[in-house]
This record gives sequence, C-alpha cells and structure tokens, in this order.
Amino acid sequence: MKARFVMVGPPGAGKGTQAKVLTEKLNIANISTGAIFRSHIAEQTELGKLAASYIDNGNLVPDEVTDALVRDRLNQDDVEQGFLLDGYPRNLHQVEALDAILAERGEKLNAVIELSIPDEDIVGRLLYRAEVEDRADDTEEVIRHRIDVYHSATAPLTDVYRQRGILLTVDGTGQIDEVLDRLVRELKSFLNISDEEQ
Ligand code: ADP
Repeated sequence: MKARFVMVGPPGAGKGTQAKVLTEKLNIANISTGAIFRSHIAEQTELGKLAASYIDNGNLVPDEVTDALVRDRLNQDDVEQGFLLDGYPRNLHQVEALDAILAERGEKLNAVIELSIPDEDIVGRLLYRAEVEDRADDTEEVIRHRIDVYHSATAPLTDVYRQRGILLTVDGTGQIDEVLDRLVRELKSFLNISDEEQ
C-alpha cells in the first residue's frame, strides 16, 4: 500500500516532531506547509513576505496560495513513494481542494492521523518552544489566537474524515518516543498491516 497520510492536531500537539520521525521510518515525503512557509520567510521571497503577514498574527495564509503550494509540492518526484501532509488541510475548503488534487492523480488518502492533546498543555508546550526555536508566532497572545483558529477552522475536519472512516485519533501526551510507538502501533492496526508486511 502506498502511504498517503494527513496529520492534524492543535498547535503544539507535536505534529512536526512525529511527522519527521514517521516519514523517515516509512521513507515517504514529509510535507509541512508551515515549514515550507517558514523557509520562504527565511529566504525573504515574495511568498515568504505574504505568508509572514498572516503567520505572525496567528492567521491562516489564504487558501489559494496554500492550495497552489501543495499542488506543486505533490507533483514532485519524491512523492511517488507516498507522503504525509503536516498542517494541510487546515479548513474545510482545503479538504475539498486536496480531494480535487488527489482525484486528478487517481489517489485517495489512507489515513488522517489526529494527534490530540488537552488545551491546557498547548500553551505551556508552545511557550517552551518559543524559547528553544525563536518562532515569531509563539508569543502567548498569538498562541491563544492560533488555538482559537484551530478550534473554529481546523477541528471540524475531523468530523469529515471520521465519516469517511479514515480518521485515527492518537493520544499525543507523553514523551516523544512513547507517542511515536503508540502512533505506529495504532496506525498499523488501523491499516491492518502486520509487522512482517511493513
Ligand atoms: P502549528 O501547528 O504549531 O500552528 P505550523 O508550522 O503547522 O505550526 O503552522 C504555522 C503557521 O503557518 C500557521 O499558524 C498558519 O499561519 C500557517 N499555515 C500552515 N499551514 C497552513 C495551511 N494549510 N493553510 C493556511 N495557513 C497555514
């Protein structure tokens, strides 16, 4: 089976961390829209300047910009082995856009992994990350706004994917290794893959 996954969860749930190890383990493309935007911001491209004006305030970058970026990225060669999208789709419009992009390719998602952590853990984790990584969008005020945006725009995605029978909710609390073991175990059983086949 070709792995075509989406990772969803509130800011600070550990999506980026888990996405990195999981994609290395499975040897599939790790596509993080947030990371792509951040590299454009660092290189001061036009896209970076535009994206920063939204990201720094905790708002979503406009859909047409993000959809086009993902469409391009999914057409690159390394996606042939499979992919994990981290941070996309992030609202219901993007769900439809992704459906359309995949339909053109005759493909469908195999699983949407929801990494869940309690709201009260989010702010603490992100304030800690702000010290370590120096991200412009990790101030307390912006973090609170990003959590609101998550609940209003992104959380409804899980209902859509649950109805399609492809939602897997994984508990994101605990140490990184612990969460990864849990994630891999639950993903395998969700996809019905035994250890021999992996
Ligand atoms: P986090 O999950 O901690 O919020 P990300 O790196 O996934 O971090 O995203 C950082 C920011 O990048 C978001 O707050 C948003 O402004 C922007 N962004 C990332 N993905 C998308 C997307 N799919 N649509 C619109 N904006 C996005």
